[in-house]
Amino acid sequence: MSKITVAIDGYSSCGKSTLAKALAQKLNYNYIDTGAMYRAVTIYCLRNNIIKDSVVDLPKLMDSLKDIDVSFVYNTTTKTSEVFLNGEHVEREIRSMEVANNVSAVSSIKAVREKMVLLQREMGKNKGVIMDGRDIGSHVFPYAELKIFMTADTAVRTQRRLDELTSKGERHSFEDVRRNLEKRDHDDTTRKENPLVQAEDAIILDNTDINREEQLNFVLKLINDLLLTKDEFNKPAARH
Ligand code: C5P
Repeated sequence: MSKITVAIDGYSSCGKSTLAKALAQKLNYNYIDTGAMYRAVTIYCLRNNIIKDSVVDLPKLMDSLKDIDVSFVYNTTTKTSEVFLNGEHVEREIRSMEVANNVSAVSSIKAVREKMVLLQREMGKNKGVIMDGRDIGSHVFPYAELKIFMTADTAVRTQRRLDELTSKGERHSFEDVRRNLEKRDHDDTTRKENPLVQAEDAIILDNTDINREEQLNFVLKLINDLLLTKDEFNKPAARH
C-alpha cells in the first residue's frame, strides 16, 4: 500500500502530538514533533545565555546555529521518536515552562526556521510520516496528502497542559498556563515567518468535546479513504 504525508497543525496544547503519535503507531509511520525541535533549540539558547526573558541575542544565535544539531531517535519502550539536542536526550527538559515561555521568541527567527524546515523536509522526504506543528501543511509540506488543523476551547487546552505539567512534577497555576498558551498562540499567528495559519485544504478538527479514540478513528477513516483512492488510481489498467 502506498504511503502518504500527514500534516497536523494547530494551536498550542490541542492534543496534536497525542493524536499524531497514536496515528504513527497504528499506521507504522514515522512521527516528527516539530515543536520539540524548536524547543530543543530553545534549550540550547537558554543554556548558552543566548536568550533571557524572551529576548534573543541575535548575533550570538546566528554564530551558534551551526553548532546546534537536533535529531530524533525511536524509543522502543515508549514506542515513539524522542528528541535529542547535540546527541543528548532532552525530551523531558523541552516540556518545562521555562522553555515554553521562551520558545516563541526563538521560533520566530528566520534563520532558525530555515534550518528546522530543511531538517523536517529531509525527515519526511520518503513519506510515511505524521508531522505536527504550526506550518507543516502551509509551508513545510504544502503538498501533503492530508492536512488536519486542530483547535479546542482555551480552557480545555489549559487544563490538559496543566495536567501534563503536574504529571511531570511541575507546579503552576491555571492562570499562568492559560497566559502562556494565549501568548504563544498570539505570537505564533502574528509572526512574520511562516505563521500558524490554517491551510486552505486542511480539515478542521475541534476536539473540545471528543475523546482521543474518536479523534483517532476520525482521522484513520480519512487516511484509509485517501489510500484506497490513491491505490485504485495507481492500479495498472486491466489487460484485454
Ligand atoms: O507544538 P509545541 O507547543 O511543542 O511547539 C512549541 C513552539 O514551537 C510553538 O509555540 C511555536 O512557537 C513553535 N513551533 C513553530 N513551528 C512549528 C512547531 C512549533 O513555530 N512547526
